[in-house]
This record gives sequence, C-alpha cells and structure tokens, in this order.
Amino acid sequence: MKFFFNKGNARTTRRVVVIGIDGTPQTFLKKHIAAGDLPHLKRITDGGQLHQMNSVQPCISSVAWSTFMTGVNPGKHRIFGFVDRKPNPFGIFLPNAIHMGAKTLWDIFSEAGKRVAVINVPVTSPPKEVNGILIGGFLSVDVLKCAYPREFGAELKQWDYRIDADANLGRNDKEAFFEDLFVTLDRRLEAARRIFEREPWDFFQLHVMETDRINHFLWEHYEKEDPKYHARFLEFYGKVDELLGEFYDRTKDDTEFIVLSDHGFCTVKKEVYLNQWLEDRGYLKLTGDQPRSVADMDSSSRAYSLIPGRVFLNLEGREQNGAVPKGAEAEALTNELAEALLTMTDPDDGSRIIEQVVRRDDLYTGLYSQEAADLIAIPYDGYDLKANVRQPSITFKGDLVGMHTFWDAALYVKDRQIQIDDFGIIDLAPSIMKMMDMEPLPEMDGRSLI
Ligand SMILES: [Zn+2]
Repeated sequence: MKFFFNKGNARTTRRVVVIGIDGTPQTFLKKHIAAGDLPHLKRITDGGQLHQMNSVQPCISSVAWSTFMTGVNPGKHRIFGFVDRKPNPFGIFLPNAIHMGAKTLWDIFSEAGKRVAVINVPVTSPPKEVNGILIGGFLSVDVLKCAYPREFGAELKQWDYRIDADANLGRNDKEAFFEDLFVTLDRRLEAARRIFEREPWDFFQLHVMETDRINHFLWEHYEKEDPKYHARFLEFYGKVDELLGEFYDRTKDDTEFIVLSDHGFCTVKKEVYLNQWLEDRGYLKLTGDQPRSVADMDSSSRAYSLIPGRVFLNLEGREQNGAVPKGAEAEALTNELAEALLTMTDPDDGSRIIEQVVRRDDLYTGLYSQEAADLIAIPYDGYDLKANVRQPSITFKGDLVGMHTFWDAALYVKDRQIQIDDFGIIDLAPSIMKMMDMEPLPEMDGRSLI
C-alpha cells in the first residue's frame, strides 16, 4: 500500500531536528568521546559544548519527556510517573497521551501550520492527530495502530518496524537481548531515514529508547567492565553514535540540531520497597493472601506508595476508602512520614537511603498539581525506590542493575551558546519555540536557553 502525504502547508524557514537518546548520561558521553569510542559525537561537539542538564522529579522517562514536550512542570502536564493512581474509585493505570494535560510542541507547531515528524517519543501513544506524522512511543501495543495517520501503520509493518526492545530478554537472555536491541534500533533508524527524506517537516524528532533499556539491564556490567558484556555495551553505543553522525550530516546548515537525554544513569546498589517499609511500620495494611499492589489495600491503611518514592496519604474524601481525616491529622501524618523516610538506612552498611523528602506543593504548580503524591522521596543515587508489595525484606538487589539520576542528563545544541548555568529539560520547549521563530507560551515554566 502506498500512502500519500498531505503537503498542503508551506514550510517555514526555521527547522529543528531533535535526537533523543533516552537515559544517556552526559558524563558517560564525555568519557567515551575522550576515549575515542564515539567519533561522530566527538566531531559533532567539537567547537561546541555537550552540557550537563537536570531532569525532573521524579526522574522517570514519561515525566521527563512530558516536561520536555510541554515546557511545563508535572502539575500542569499531569504525567507524574510511569504508573499513577485514580483515587476514587481506586485504580492503578499507566499514564499515556490521553492523560496529557498540556499542549505539546507538536500540538503547538501543528496549530501554527508547521509540519512535524515525531518518532517514538514516550507518552505519545495512542497517537494524536498532528500536522504531519507521529509514531507513538513504547506504550504502543501494535505497529498497525501506533501511528498518525493511521494508514501509516501498514507501511511501518512492511518495514518490520519495532516498537520497543523486549525487556524479558534483558532479564533472561542477555545475548538475545543485545541482538534484539541492535535490530530494534536498526528498524527505527530505517523508518526515521525514510520519514526524514520524504516528509516535508519543519520539526523532526527521533527518539532512541534502546539506550535506556540497555542501561537498565547492563549498566553495572558496563561500569564494572564485565568481560562478557563491556565491549558489546560500547559497541551498541557505537551504533547510536553512527546514528547521531548520520542525522547530523543529513541536517542542513540552516536547520537547528539538538541531541539530548532525559536523565542520567547509575548502578543500582539496592532496590528499596517503600510499601514494605510502610507495612512494617503499620501505615499500610494489605488484604488477601497475595496482594498484587496497593490496589489491594485495606481501608484502615493510612499511606501507600507508587514508584519511585511517591507517597500518598489514604485521605478521607479523596481516596475511595480514605482513613486519614483532612486537616490537622493529615498534616501531622505527612510530617511524621517525611521525618521517618529521612531516617531510612541500608541495613548492610548503614548508609542513608533518602536524601530529601519534598511536599507536593513545593515541587509542582498548576491545575493538576493536587493529583500528585503528597510526598516525593528523593533517594541518593544507587537506591532505587520501588513499590512492590509483600517483599521478604525492605532492600534487595534485583535484575535491574541500572537506575536513573537527576543531575546527569545531556544536551548539545549545534552552533548555539547557552548562557544559563543551571538549567533543565523543562527549558527545552521554550528554547525550541524560539528557534522556530515563535514566542514561548505564557504558561510555560521553562526559560528559553537561547
Ligand atoms: Zn528516560
């Protein structure tokens, strides 16, 4: 089947190319540029700067990319984590594009008559209408239905496009996982090439998710220079480097070129099960012999947690079976929990686990901020805050050996000087709007970096 694109709108003169390399730390890229392992990124960044950039809290891909694409904080875009909860009736769900509460860059550009091509960015599934083409990110379930326009799915299918690498292989068969990562990246690259060439885009964004996937399962092997996987790990990043070089070369001089990641990575020292910790202290009571999540909590529960480090009161008048009265009692419990969380230590070496506990209202503003967790616990790097229930202990070393870090995302912008010292992924949307000769929206929280 041949698909015919609408080419009705005139191109603007300013165009922007964004390549996202999910979860690739700035320090890692710097190190391997210097070591000669990433020759394309070396020549790209020569004469420019590969900046270190802050992520968001919590530093989760869905939250970070939602912040990137809207330029607003989670209290305005409404994506607070990889999972979220509806308080009443109580239920757990995976937030996706349907829940997005703010305008994305591609909404804004589409409305302005500019054409977009957006490939695989998290929280873009199910695909919304755009002026151009959009391929949904990792929550897409079916290649045939993952794109706008819908008909484009059939073509992607013909190209053997893959939505995501298979995380089960990361757990069970690392050799097969590597193969899968290489193939998935290759298919994505092939689709991106075709779209780049034939679509009349003003804004093009290609998102590489495989970097996050490899880091989750192999970051420790990389860091410890495991002889079995270290070279292959760097070989994979060599492929990503080639991809960056290719799109850099394809991008014309009058077009902006941006490479960024949404957070850094570090080795997991321990997973920490906050719901188990809450249960041990009597704040959470689960029902049944085999509760699967906090959806199975008893109505006497006073608090519960969702990944990573989000703690909610079981509040009367908000949660379906709320047990904690609003007002002084809720306030006292919030303070009690915050203080107790800060005292958590690793049973093996006594290290502190939580660096900071932040109240919702100190972190978020906007229409949806009251939907966020009451407290957000921010761990020291290495302690991965989980929400699994009924764990045999509060801390454990599991299959996921890499975790996200807040301070070590990366940003490169071709031929642009960034003057601000301390900036974050929230500043990208207003910056990109400026590059497209548009004024950032007044509701945006980020500041233009250019
Ligand atoms: Zn990410």
